[in-house]
Amino acid sequence: MTRTTLLPWHAPIFKTWHAIANKAHAYLIVAPDGTGGEYLLNQLAHSVLCENTDAQHLACGQCVACLLLQSYSHPDLRVLRPAILDVNHPIEEMRPEQGAGKPKPSKEISIAQVRGLANMVNQTSHRGGQRVILVYPAQKLNRNAANALLKTLEEPPPNTLFFLLVDDVKQLLPTIISRCQRIEAPAPSIDAGADYLNQVLGTTSDWPQLLATENGAAIRVQELSQGNYFELQQQLIDALAQGSRLSALRLAEQFEKHIADAEKARLAGGGSGIDVNTFITWLQRWLHDLLCESQGSGAARYYPKHQKALQQIVLKTNAIKLHEFEQQLLKSKRYAEHPLNLKTWLEHILLDYAQRIA
Ligand SMILES: [Zn+2]
Repeated sequence: MTRTTLLPWHAPIFKTWHAIANKAHAYLIVAPDGTGGEYLLNQLAHSVLCENTDAQHLACGQCVACLLLQSYSHPDLRVLRPAILDVNHPIEEMRPEQGAGKPKPSKEISIAQVRGLANMVNQTSHRGGQRVILVYPAQKLNRNAANALLKTLEEPPPNTLFFLLVDDVKQLLPTIISRCQRIEAPAPSIDAGADYLNQVLGTTSDWPQLLATENGAAIRVQELSQGNYFELQQQLIDALAQGSRLSALRLAEQFEKHIADAEKARLAGGGSGIDVNTFITWLQRWLHDLLCESQGSGAARYYPKHQKALQQIVLKTNAIKLHEFEQQLLKSKRYAEHPLNLKTWLEHILLDYAQRIA
């Protein structure tokens, strides 16, 4: 988590924050998922807590405060995030307990975590400066936790700064939003994202296309390209591109295994990032491109390499059938978190697809 430089597309926002700092005690950073919002949050925290920042307000990385931050032990910083994000924490004691009889690490921020702030904010700060509390992703606060945090924000403790990060502001309580100064941190442009990926992972001509597919989420593309996410996406799209020759049952069997493997890996702190929602998202993107093609409304946005297959498929179907399938997918998405039987669920979706494009 320690990244010593700002992501290039966050530099203007970091500067803006320092121009408005001290105007509020709570800031809500709105950044699309996978664009590095958590790094921005940490950079801001380090910048506030460092005792020797440079002219650009960047943390020095060498003072006592910075050393405490680097070892995750600064007493004036608290991070509230779901335990599932800590399964791979570099400090062993900070990982959630796992194993037989232990609950799965939570995907939510709990009320206990929010209540745990009390013993920090009721004391004076340890190092005499401000205290910083990071909350991310803030939409993962469960209802009780959100209400408890709201109370704290309504009666802000002295010398305490809150930074909340959210990618979908609609999922946050309006009362929490209204207590925070809002800062937008948009995704990088495709060019800026590609420049960054060229620098950190090496030059390839694939970056602009992968970034377009992932809506410019450069950090997400960086992380996903370390695993098999893009290969699996390719595998699914290649199969869908076969049109009615698609073997729905075999594909369902393959993806049941991929999704189950990824879930296991995720609990161990790694994985490809694919789950049932990802599967549906890929299908929705494919459908988007099919609908574009059937309505003649321009080139494929997500899978332009398959333009020919898209053209052939729309010859055999029509926009009504495609829209019906789109509705079906939205319904399936509601069951996606806990499908009773993953394989049957996948088969159902893929057979439905094959039928509608036949
Ligand atoms: Zn420092």
